[in-house]
Amino acid sequence: MAEAAADMAHVLVFPVPAQGHLNSFLHFSTGLLRAGLHVTFLHTDHNLRRLGAAAREAAAASPRLRFLSVPDGLPDDDPRALDGIPRLMETLRTTGGAAYRDLLASLRRRDGGADDGFPPVTCVVADGVMPFAWEIAEELGVPAIAYRTVSACSVLAYMSVPRLIELGELPFPEGGGDLDEPVRGVPGMESFLRRRDLPIECRSLTETHQDPLLKAVVAATARSRKARALMLNTTASLERSSLTHLAQEMRDVFAVGLLHAMFPAPAAATSLWRHDDGCTAWLDGHAERSVVYISLGSLTVISHEQFTEFLRGLVAAGYPFLWVLRPDMLGASQDDALREAVAAVGEDRALVVPWAPQRDVLRHRAVGCFLTHAGWNSTVEGVAEGVPLVCWPFFVDQQINSRFVGAVWRNGLDMKDVCERDVVERTVREAMESDEIRRSARALAEQVERDIADGGSSAMEFGRLVGFIKELSR
Ligand code: UDP
Repeated sequence: MAEAAADMAHVLVFPVPAQGHLNSFLHFSTGLLRAGLHVTFLHTDHNLRRLGAAAREAAAASPRLRFLSVPDGLPDDDPRALDGIPRLMETLRTTGGAAYRDLLASLRRRDGGADDGFPPVTCVVADGVMPFAWEIAEELGVPAIAYRTVSACSVLAYMSVPRLIELGELPFPEGGGDLDEPVRGVPGMESFLRRRDLPIECRSLTETHQDPLLKAVVAATARSRKARALMLNTTASLERSSLTHLAQEMRDVFAVGLLHAMFPAPAAATSLWRHDDGCTAWLDGHAERSVVYISLGSLTVISHEQFTEFLRGLVAAGYPFLWVLRPDMLGASQDDALREAVAAVGEDRALVVPWAPQRDVLRHRAVGCFLTHAGWNSTVEGVAEGVPLVCWPFFVDQQINSRFVGAVWRNGLDMKDVCERDVVERTVREAMESDEIRRSARALAEQVERDIADGGSSAMEFGRLVGFIKELSR
């Protein structure tokens, strides 16, 4: 009887409508489906329209998965780009939150609120930077878990911001002071964390001003103490110390990564851009570990000067390179000219694409290193494939992720805050040629493989999480 009820566990997952979050939630959903649970994946109307047939195909392939949507509160022609993130998060909370409340109220009814054979929603797993989503769920009597799609170390850093302020480590002295000064107030990181490794938004913090993104993430992190549990896409062996410290603050913590490696799902189902299909054929034509792959994720923007420094540095390093330049990354007016500048390097030596099938690229034998912005998904995708990383972090969690790459895991180098051509050339060369970095990257990948294999820490944690969800669903 109890088992029958548990089998009807039905999780509504609600990610932030941005690429990294969508991918991460899709892999998590795939794990839940494999465990026999039902999943309602809540998109925004805008994204669900943009995904179109790909989402419909993914749902058709699994009778226990459906995609529903709520408005994000922005006009349809809004670009939903980097500088609009705080506005999007606000309208998602207000307009989206109201629609989500109505939808969830109907989906938790006995008939599941829709005529498609799905049982009532019994649990919500909401993005850990959207506290409204799990707080509304609990108000409606649906137990809710917070899922932060970033590293445990970055969550711990955000959680420590009030303490850093208390200790006088934040704000930084006027003008930023020496960014290489150590930071002592983030537990477990005293020996290697510097001011420049904290989220970049800390640099503009003053007695009277706080960056809206920093403020929102710090507040969400504090509020996640109230969720039934915090779930993270990491492994015990990668982030043991941060996980131990977080466990002291949260009701429960589940380290269930690396989800993309445990539960691979077709990337197209949540990809907001169309993958360029030519990458693999181009890579096929290159020797083993001879190519540099460059991608700065879905949100980073770069200036014309930064583009030029990257390009000159890459050309000087002398390896063929595959470079993802999203159309919205450079500013439309410059886009064509910059693409032509890369094309001038020669088709054999350089391929530029608007969006790549990243996980396939990283798995390809020709890729020798990954120049990344150190977004958490990109970082763990590189870690899982044992590819050396060169990090050029842009914002939020990326500054601390890249510090872990360079100083803790040592599976790559951290270029933080500079992208001068000679630095690009030197770091790319070192990542391509250093046996030590390659060995560390390989060892890290093997360690993660053990974490996710049967009996490994993440596999056990995922089993414990499914049991926890079933228990909450009774
Ligand atoms: N990605 C991709 N193709 C690309 C660039 C990125 O499929 O050309 C995927 C990548 O595999 C990752 C996600 O987009 O899963 C980016 O997430 P991440 O956390 O690395 O960075 P964000 O976009 O959030 O800054």
